[in-house]
Amino acid sequence: MTTDGPSIFTRIIGGEIPADVVLDTERLIAFRDIAPQAPVHLLVVPKTDAYATVAELAAGDPALLAELVATASALAAEHADGDYRLVFNSGPAAGQTVFHVHAHVLAGGLEEGTLA
Ligand code: 5GP
Repeated sequence: MTTDGPSIFTRIIGGEIPADVVLDTERLIAFRDIAPQAPVHLLVVPKTDAYATVAELAAGDPALLAELVATASALAAEHADGDYRLVFNSGPAAGQTVFHVHAHVLAGGLEEGTLA
């Protein structure tokens, strides 16, 4: 959680900002990235804003991290051929721009080398 108010993802979870939601469960939401880096580019986001990074989530709620990973895998099977890359950018120098933990699920057409 930052001190700058609710993250963009908290605002999506709250319905304040629209998103192309593909899954909405008790503890997770998944939606399409606004700037896709692969034919299928989903973000899987815990609804809680308590964790900024994957390491914080792993330490604070490992069961939720496991649920996130299982969800990512299921979404890759639903939206692509089941193969996927799971990316957690952690820290600004690694490209993290939203400090509300989230996983990128990149899938579909991976053989075309479309991923950065
Ligand atoms: P990060 O750089 O923090 O790992 O990933 C943040 C991701 O959120 C980026 O891939 C960016 O395109 C995506 N993103 C930022 N703002 C929005 C938004 O308002 N809606 C959606 N659907 N994705 C967003």
